[in-house]
Amino acid sequence: MPRKTKLIVTLGPATETEETIGQLLDAGANIFRLNMSHAKHEWAREMARLVRRQAAERHLHAAVLFDLTGPSIRTGDLDEPYELKIGDLVEFRKADAEASIPLSTTVNYPGMMDDVSEGSTLVVDNGTLLMEIRTKKDDRILCEVRNAGTLGSRRHINLPGTRLNLPAMTDKDRKDLSLAVECDADFVAGSFVRDAAHVHELRDAVDSLEGGAQIIAKIEDQEAVRHIDSIIKAADGIMIARGDLGIEVDFEDLPILQRRIIKRCHELSTRVIVATQLLESMVQNPTPTRAEVTDCSNAVYEECDALMLSGETSIGKHPLRCVEALVKIGGRIERSGGLGYGQQVMLRDERQKVARAAVTLADSLPDALLIVLTRRGVLANQVAMLRPRTAGFFAFTPREVVCRQLALNRSVVPFRLPFAAGIDETIERATDFLLEHDLVRPGGPMVIVSDLLSDHIAANSILLHHA
Ligand code: PEP
Repeated sequence: MPRKTKLIVTLGPATETEETIGQLLDAGANIFRLNMSHAKHEWAREMARLVRRQAAERHLHAAVLFDLTGPSIRTGDLDEPYELKIGDLVEFRKADAEASIPLSTTVNYPGMMDDVSEGSTLVVDNGTLLMEIRTKKDDRILCEVRNAGTLGSRRHINLPGTRLNLPAMTDKDRKDLSLAVECDADFVAGSFVRDAAHVHELRDAVDSLEGGAQIIAKIEDQEAVRHIDSIIKAADGIMIARGDLGIEVDFEDLPILQRRIIKRCHELSTRVIVATQLLESMVQNPTPTRAEVTDCSNAVYEECDALMLSGETSIGKHPLRCVEALVKIGGRIERSGGLGYGQQVMLRDERQKVARAAVTLADSLPDALLIVLTRRGVLANQVAMLRPRTAGFFAFTPREVVCRQLALNRSVVPFRLPFAAGIDETIERATDFLLEHDLVRPGGPMVIVSDLLSDHIAANSILLHHA
């Protein structure tokens, strides 16, 4: 039985050679993420090319995801890092303001002084430094340090619970997006998406460049959580970006939010990725901690579409072992069953009801395969969100890009197949393909669902066929 949970790997210095990319594909990676917070354009172009070449050599449909930096707040450049003690006062000021105390740094977002309020928390560098905002002026804020630590240059600032008026995209994001379109990216992820308008802005930007990338919204703060329904409806996929989200919310809320978002994504038929620190200790160590195994198992049990590795594969010492660990955990937990949110998908149109009927039929027949014939991938996505339990779930589509974008959907194995003028012949072609590749036994039951044109009518059909 093929593994159901898809795997996203972030490329970086640890994995940037063509040979390693090939090995990652062989180990089970489905999507390659280029993190534009770190990637140079020439490098990203080269990585996208290598992924395509290695995937083509293996007849695999691996996707490329450009992850935009988004509008993050960062500290300015310091000559030397500051060693801070509890109780120290640190100033964060606009770029054109003069320092008024020795421990002072600029920030790249001048609107910050308007957005924050006294008494709220400011977090620097992924939670390594916690501060309380003591006083706020037009051009600076003064913060009291709550734990000892080091403040370096260009460190990321989080303001949990503060509503920020940052734009959806920066100039850098727009340049990175042009590159993504130039590289024919399959997915573009927007960082710090806070409402549906941000998703629409990203989509409009891709459309205006005539790109075909689908939009992933990264859920990273409380405001995104407040607007989760409209974001899920607007996006093609959701990433639970637990790195920033785990700072922006109380950490004990994170598992509850993860489960709630996964459930809502099922209900609204939008794919969902669980990201960050899945196997963090494996950046150094060759095996995961027990807690990491349990965390990954939980995400697989919740039946997310994909798990994402970040530092583990971009800078870690054991990138291949990380993919192998997720393959092992995924396969084992998938065999033991899942949470079943696929039962709660809201069936909003006839096509989704047809998809449900097909999944129910296929699940009830021992040994049956589920086959979707799909031109744009929409029907394949709807079937996948119902979380079929068949041993095989294959999608046939004439379009390569649809194959690559289905790399994100749980369970489905996509194949490219030119469609014939009539549906009967298309089914024959698909059956022949499966027989040739030993993916179905002669006479084996296949539940085929399609919404292809038949006699110029978009026919939602289910067919029980024997190979
Ligand atoms: C995250 O915060 O979890 C995340 C995936 O975003 P990034 O790696 O871009 O910070």
